[in-house]
Amino acid sequence: MISSRNIRDGYASFNGDIFNHMVRVLRLGTGDGVTLVDETGREHEGIIDQVSREWVAVRIEAPRQVPTTGDHGVRITICQALPKGEKVDMILQKGTELGVHDFCLFGGRRSVARVRGDQLAAKLERWQRIAAEAARQCNRCSVPAVSWSPSAAEAAGSTSQELRLLLWEGERKQSLKSALADRECPASAIVAIGPEGGFDPLEVQEFLKQGYLPVSLGNRILRTETATIAISAILQYVWGMM
Ligand code: SAM
Repeated sequence: MISSRNIRDGYASFNGDIFNHMVRVLRLGTGDGVTLVDETGREHEGIIDQVSREWVAVRIEAPRQVPTTGDHGVRITICQALPKGEKVDMILQKGTELGVHDFCLFGGRRSVARVRGDQLAAKLERWQRIAAEAARQCNRCSVPAVSWSPSAAEAAGSTSQELRLLLWEGERKQSLKSALADRECPASAIVAIGPEGGFDPLEVQEFLKQGYLPVSLGNRILRTETATIAISAILQYVWGMM
């Protein structure tokens, strides 16, 4: 994925990783065609114009007008406690396909995975790349932004969405169905989902304090990635494009 800032006056030039990938890995050379995807998911067709020892210059043809699907309906934010391993890849990919507007990942008290300060920039870039690739694959016209909060308290406090749901495995009274029944489509909704170890009681308090509505998805305990995919699809079915 490139930055749209790389493109100027009909040309884009690259060094570093993109140069290595194009010239050394894909063995592309002058005259070869390339398709560049920028951070908005837009595709740019180009022809390699020049290759030097460290740089490659691409002449941009007209950006391909890929018929993209409009992202309408409720604007869904997934507020996801960081799960272990590659589960976050699946959450970003499937959530993007299901029309999630943006992802706020956070460090859950019971998250097994941790993000050290010096790793954050690289992780955010990787997560954003996964979302951009998923957006491109499903022809979305927008790429979900991926952000990071160190804790549930910071994630819960940074919201301004109209509807705030806490998917809580400990909720015994309020079902998702009853919480959504007869409710008008909100402009925006944020859904908090815990990690493999679930939510810590202090985290539940934080979300409740910020006006999140605790809801149950039934008696079965779903894996965190299952819960995220399920709620994204349900909200799209109730208020979105499905
Ligand atoms: N404590 C459980 C365990 O040890 O497996 C798991 C928590 S579950 C894997 C991860 C997250 O998915 C929960 O924190 C919650 O956000 C959501 N979740 C899973 N099942 C749920 C249910 N039946 N109702 C509401 N939320 C659920």
